[in-house]
Amino acid sequence: MDLKQYITVVSDYPKPGIQFKDITTLMDNGKAYKYATDQIVKYAKEKQVDIIVGPEARGFIIGCPVAYAMEIGFAPVRKEGKLPREVARVEYGLEYGTDVLTIHRDAIKPGQRVLITDDLLATGGTIEATVKLVEELGGVVAGIAFLIELGYLNGREKLKGYDVLTLMEY
Ligand code: IMP
Repeated sequence: MDLKQYITVVSDYPKPGIQFKDITTLMDNGKAYKYATDQIVKYAKEKQVDIIVGPEARGFIIGCPVAYAMEIGFAPVRKEGKLPREVARVEYGLEYGTDVLTIHRDAIKPGQRVLITDDLLATGGTIEATVKLVEELGGVVAGIAFLIELGYLNGREKLKGYDVLTLMEY
């Protein structure tokens, strides 16, 4: 299936000059969403993962159906102040300033094999920070899966040494 036909490219959103890749039109189509999910499930099985981890909010959209299909858990990575119990936290750089991501300290057991999911790989900053959280808890990053990779932003450079699956590239 050619998944790109279900992605809507929106010009000048959220800022002039940006070609925003809107995945909601893929999610709207049950067959396309299932097909994309199935590709990631296949990958997750190959990598023998024990748990899925994804950053809010679109990492949930990709990761949760994979966790459901495999009957394994999903651990959410959230912005600071959103998780109620003890967390690990990491600060990471944005275009302007910094942001913080957190995960519950007991979400991953040491040695568990983790698949990280998100909708889109841009500069790689979000997932680099997510990798740090997983490793701080003793998890093993067995793979990282995205729907879309913006190849021209070289996000893979930040994820060197990790196995990365992307279903579409721009
Ligand atoms: P990165 O940290 O620079 O790799 O940015 C990745 C994050 O930005 C992902 O969580 C995406 O949800 C979001 N993002 C950046 N560009 C786009 C886009 O064109 N479409 C949808 N999400 C985007």
